[in-house]
Amino acid sequence: MKKITILGATGTIGINTLDVIKRHSDEFEVVALTGHRQIDRLAALCFEWSPRYAVMADSDAAAQLEQRLKNTPVQVLSGTSSLSQVASLPEVDIVMAAIVGAAGLLPTLAAAQAGKRVLLANKEALVMSGQLFMDAVREHGAELLPIDSEHNAVFQCMPPSAAGISRILLTASGGPFRSYPIEQLHDVTPDQACAHPNWNMGRKISVDSATMMNKGLEIIEACWLFSAPPEQIDVVLHPQSVIHSMVEYVDGSVLAQLGNPDMRTPIAYGLAWPDRIDSGVPRLNLIDIARLDFEAVDFERFPCLKLASEAMLAGGTTSTILNAANEVAVEAFLQERLRFTAIPKVIETTLSQLTGRMANSLEVILEDDARARELAFEAVKTDN
Ligand code: NAD
Ligand code: MG
Repeated sequence: MKKITILGATGTIGINTLDVIKRHSDEFEVVALTGHRQIDRLAALCFEWSPRYAVMADSDAAAQLEQRLKNTPVQVLSGTSSLSQVASLPEVDIVMAAIVGAAGLLPTLAAAQAGKRVLLANKEALVMSGQLFMDAVREHGAELLPIDSEHNAVFQCMPPSAAGISRILLTASGGPFRSYPIEQLHDVTPDQACAHPNWNMGRKISVDSATMMNKGLEIIEACWLFSAPPEQIDVVLHPQSVIHSMVEYVDGSVLAQLGNPDMRTPIAYGLAWPDRIDSGVPRLNLIDIARLDFEAVDFERFPCLKLASEAMLAGGTTSTILNAANEVAVEAFLQERLRFTAIPKVIETTLSQLTGRMANSLEVILEDDARARELAFEAVKTDN
């Protein structure tokens, strides 16, 4: 039995992970489930899965959850340190890192430092801490497996030696606004931005997909995961989301991974690697799909993509600053305090006010994250 902690169990990735595990209940045992404030959802999961631990990041929510679970053996914990605790329990083999945003950094890092198999969905953690995170993986013998569908695809298309690679091609659907009239983007609502054509995801990553900051974060993620310079990574628009990404080799070969757009495929791959298990995803029907389209990215429509590439080239904490400003801007947009088209402006203003430094310690990373958030909050206010 492989024992697993699911960080962010109440989210889209968390729920999909449990759906895969349910199909293999003789192979995986759920030790800990975590959530932020969704008491009903975490309580229901605890009744269904009987984990040893349930963690709510929010202490009031934890107190209420404890009340709900008082007649069960589930131990309820609260706060960030408990998230890190359940990510590094000696008995745990696998940690699914599926908290959204910077809140996932410390527990995901704790899992790496405890030498776990880390299934990385929480791309923001890697974008924020880059080298520090990869060093922790190496030093502590952790096994880092990408769950982001593009990176999972690249991983699947790479031989262990990773020799002879000329380019990594990340595919992007272009989100809900790929061909929306550019002059009307200004007035789009959070619900429109979250209505992704191919994927059903949490609201933050949905907005990131609409601005294409998601692809920008994924370029940074790919640089770290595959030790690739940003010049080696290209983005190609592929509206059907059937090819999840590709690797081009010096001999002209291009390997692609295809599948229905369903996160249970990369999740199952990460859980079972190097084996394969059933994920519950329906078989890909190429005849029904009939065609695959590709287009170049329009950088004018998606300024966030350029901001992210530049941040990666600048190095150090610049991508920490980019990520923090983006989180603040997206939150403000979701709360209808900021226009969609002002998201890149807030990020650009923040980046112009704070210079990245060497990201050589967690303290420096967290300090720049906090400072960027303050500046981004101000930029949001000024924009209104
Ligand atoms: P979601 O919003 O559905 O779920 C987020 C989870 O994080 C929830 O369990 C929530 O309770 C928890 N959380 C939020 N704030 C927290 C905090 N402050 N402290 C502790 N826990 C907190 O998001 P999602 O779509 O499941 O995405 C999760 C992560 O996976 C993100 O980093 C996203 O970029 C990445 N990812 C998601 C998809 C997808 O298809 N959904 C694909 C690739 C990568
Ligand atoms: Mg992705």
